[in-house]
Amino acid sequence: MNEGHSYPGRLIVVEGIDGSGKSTQIELLENYLRLKGFGVLRNAWNSSQEISPIIRKAKKKQILTPYAFSLLHAADFSYRYTHEIIPALNAGKVVLSDRYIYTSIARDCARGIPREWLMNNFRFAIRPDLTFFFRVDPSMAFERITQMRDIKYYEAGMDMELSPNPRESYILFQSRVLSEYEGLAKELGFFTLDGSRPVEETQKVIRRAVNPVIQ
Ligand code: ADP
Repeated sequence: MNEGHSYPGRLIVVEGIDGSGKSTQIELLENYLRLKGFGVLRNAWNSSQEISPIIRKAKKKQILTPYAFSLLHAADFSYRYTHEIIPALNAGKVVLSDRYIYTSIARDCARGIPREWLMNNFRFAIRPDLTFFFRVDPSMAFERITQMRDIKYYEAGMDMELSPNPRESYILFQSRVLSEYEGLAKELGFFTLDGSRPVEETQKVIRRAVNPVIQ
């Protein structure tokens, strides 16, 4: 991965397991930055019009091996990186990325793929100016998600056959993901947030950390 970058824009990333509060906070941050007059591009994981439908179809059939899962998400990311993220950074925008390469590194590592292989695969991607890591207990994340919808097969890591019970599988799998995130956070200096704190309180901390980066 490249150290630093020379684009006029800024890249701010939120990472953490599903249900940790990333989207809620990034939306509030986007409103704040727009009110301050910044050009903003918000982008989300697994969202390209071109590749994401293929991933969706494969997930539905539950046919993905860990490497196929990883490579397809990497393809989606690299597409968005080239066509959305870099052009926006070149145009001087603040890019708010709801998940970045660390999602793949943490999650696919938890699926047994060597970390070095993953790091190498994403070497083309620049290092963000600021990465927030939302730390939340998997059982809390599970409760938050299931209040809105059912837990999904791959989200629960059911492909890993850790447990036939979706809740148990989710907690076992996401605990692995969380511990990979914790390693990355330490190594790469992520800004760690307690995802169990109230929304407004966390948003204040985020804005305080973002202000010097966008000066
Ligand atoms: P993520 O993007 O990390 O999956 P979301 O922001 O979508 O998480 O939040 C998941 C759910 O938890 C939503 O229903 C959201 O309203 C709720 N939520 C988010 N942040 C908090 C918080 N700090 N405290 C309580 N509930 C929260």
